[in-house]
Amino acid sequence: MTNEQRVVIARLGEVFLKGRNRGEFVRRLRENMQRALRDISPLRLDRAQGRIYVHVEAEDAERAARAVRDTFGVGTISVARPCERSLEAIYEAAALAVAEATRGRTHATFKVQTKRPDKTFTPDSMEVSRLVGGALLERFDNLRVDVKTPELVVGVEIGTEHALVFCGREQAVGGLPVGCEGDVLLLLSGGIDSPVAGHLMQRRGCRLAAVYFHSPPYVSEHARDKVLQLARRLARAQGPLEVDVVRFTDIQTDIRDNARGDMAVVLYRRAMMRIASRLGISRGAQALATGENLGQVASQTLTNLRCINEAATLPVLRPLLAYDKHETIALARRIETFETSILPHEDCCSLFVPKHPATRLPIELAEKAELGLDPSLLDAAVETVETERVVA
Ligand code: ATP
Ligand code: MG
Repeated sequence: MTNEQRVVIARLGEVFLKGRNRGEFVRRLRENMQRALRDISPLRLDRAQGRIYVHVEAEDAERAARAVRDTFGVGTISVARPCERSLEAIYEAAALAVAEATRGRTHATFKVQTKRPDKTFTPDSMEVSRLVGGALLERFDNLRVDVKTPELVVGVEIGTEHALVFCGREQAVGGLPVGCEGDVLLLLSGGIDSPVAGHLMQRRGCRLAAVYFHSPPYVSEHARDKVLQLARRLARAQGPLEVDVVRFTDIQTDIRDNARGDMAVVLYRRAMMRIASRLGISRGAQALATGENLGQVASQTLTNLRCINEAATLPVLRPLLAYDKHETIALARRIETFETSILPHEDCCSLFVPKHPATRLPIELAEKAELGLDPSLLDAAVETVETERVVA
C-alpha cells in the first residue's frame, strides 16, 4: 500500500434509516455516485455497514471528494489515508494527516477515535486510540488532548485488508438517492427559482423530467437554450433528463384576445397546469413541481395559488414555497445555476400582461373567463410537444 492513494469515506445519511428498502437505496446511491465519479474512474468502490469507500489516486482525491459530497444520500465524508494494518503504519499515516490538517496553526486540541470493523485486530480500539494519541503527542509539540471538545478528531478504522486514517468529517449534501422516490415533472422556466426547486426534489430522491412552455416568436430561441442549459445542470445528479418543450404561443394569444388582461398570468398558469398534468401522467410522474413561492409576485398570493392549483390533476409540489428570495439565490449559487438563470431573456409569463395583474382571482371567475377560450388549443399543445433529452 502506498501513500499515493486516498479513500473517500462516504457515510450514508438518512438512507441508513430506511429499514427494509435500504438495499435498494444503497444500490441507487452507489450507481449515482459512480456516475458522478465517471471522469475520475476510481480504483475501487467498496460498500460496508452504512458506508461507501471510494479508492482513488491521491491527486484525484479533491475532485472525488467533491463528487461524493454532492451525491444525494451522503451524510458526511472524510478523506482517509490507507495504510497497512500495523501500529507503526498507523502512526505514520496519522502524523501525515495531522500535519496536513494543522498546517499554518500554532496549536490544536485533538482526540483519536478508533473503530475496528475487524474485531480480530489487537490491541482493541481504546488501546489503539491511546497509542496513536501518544505517538502524535511525541511528534507534535503544538498538540494537546481534549476528549470533550477537540478541534481535531483523528479517525482510525481498522478493516480486514488495511487501516484508514483521517482527520475530521465534512458535511455532505444529505437527502435521499435520486430515483428512490419516483418521478416528478418539473415546470422549468429560465428563472432563478424553478431549477432550485428541481434540485430540492432530486435531493428528496425524485427523478425529474421537465416541461418548458415556449412562446415563439415573442420569446427567442435563446430563452429555450437557457432552459436546456439549466436542465443539463440538473442532469448531473441523475443522468439523462427529458425536457418537453410545449408550444404555448397560441394559448397565450387566445387569452390575450379573449380574457381580461389582469387575469392573464393566472390563466397562463392554469393552462400550464392542465398541460403539465397530462404530460406528467403520460410519463408516469407522481407529481408536478414548480418554483412558486408564497407572496413573491402577484400571481403567487395564496388565493392565486389556490386558483392555479385547482387546474392541476397531479399534486403540485412547491419546495420553495416558504423560502425567502435570498435563501433561494444562495442555493442557486451553490448549485451553479444562478449565473445561467440571470442571463437576460424573455419570459412568456410577462407577455401581454398589464401593470396591475389581479392579486386575488377567485376560481369561479377564472372558470368563467375560460368559457371564452378555445379548449382544443390545450390538446394541440400536448400533441405537438417536442421532447429534448439532455445529459450533463
Ligand atoms: P422562476 O424563477 O422559476 O421563473 P419565478 O419566481 O420567476 O420563478 P414565475 O415566473 O411566476 O416565478 O413562475 C412560477 C413558476 O411557474 C416557475 O417557478 C415555474 O415552475 C413555472 N413556470 C413559469 N413560467 C414557465 C415556463 N415558461 N415554462 C415552464 N414553467 C414555467
Ligand atoms: Mg419566472
